[in-house]
Amino acid sequence: MTHFSDLQNKSVLVTGGSKGIGKDIALGFAKNQANVIISGRNETSLQDTVQELRKHNPSCYYVQADVTNMEDIEKMFRMAVDYAGRLDILVNNAGLNITKPALDVTEEDWDQVLDTNLKSAFFCSQKAAKYMTENNAGKIINIASQMGFVGYWDRAAYCSSKGGMIQLTKTLAIEWAKYNINVNAVAPTYIKTELTSTMFEDEEFEKDVYQRIPLGKLADPSDVTGAVLYLSSTISKFVTGETIKVDGGWTAL
Ligand code: NDP
Repeated sequence: MTHFSDLQNKSVLVTGGSKGIGKDIALGFAKNQANVIISGRNETSLQDTVQELRKHNPSCYYVQADVTNMEDIEKMFRMAVDYAGRLDILVNNAGLNITKPALDVTEEDWDQVLDTNLKSAFFCSQKAAKYMTENNAGKIINIASQMGFVGYWDRAAYCSSKGGMIQLTKTLAIEWAKYNINVNAVAPTYIKTELTSTMFEDEEFEKDVYQRIPLGKLADPSDVTGAVLYLSSTISKFVTGETIKVDGGWTAL
């Protein structure tokens, strides 16, 4: 386990922290004795994950909130700050993918992907920054994707949303540097989670993915968590506007 002693007692909000990569990130923070607040829509998953987090740090909480709903975003930050007293770190992790040929993508599909992945990251960051400016300190980490750097079949909306997230990271980093808020992103390659489980039922897809990753295997959620903890720690205090690729070399090809 990666240990960063300066994360102890920091207050962290991880959106989509109930499952998959977000859950691993939340566990990473809890193991470093940070106060963790996770959010998501399904309350049962949130309750189960918070029980696991509390084994490492009792000061962990959840907020049931849909990041595509502005009132829920408002509630999520209010409750997070009520629970933890302050907000030091935001991880914009909640996300989804709709895999469809571009010719079949509907307006509803497009809006769902862009609203969940990109619009939410902007408005959650804006809300977080309002608290962080009061402390003149903060860290915002966006979970983007290698798909923000490259194209791939049937992922027009997803690639657009993640490319947008990388640009958003740079812009907010520049604008909020004066408040001592670092804004960075992590861009993972494929990881087996609920989000990708049906994709890997397609053998051709699986073969193609393995061929494109020089390290020859998929990433693990802990690979993302390591990068997130580094970007959250004071050790990375001079890093801002950066996107760390955790892609086994996919985008280096
Ligand atoms: P999962 O589907 O396993 O988990 C997604 C999480 O986001 C869940 O906690 C889910 O909870 C939450 N979530 C989804 N939609 C919303 C919403 N509208 N409001 C609030 N919470 C929401 O996905 P992963 O762990 O695989 O993905 C996490 C992030 O990592 C995403 O941004 C994804 O794009 C990115 N990523 C994933 C890769 C992969 O291969 N898995 C590769 C590169 C990037 P609930 O459903 O209860 O709301």
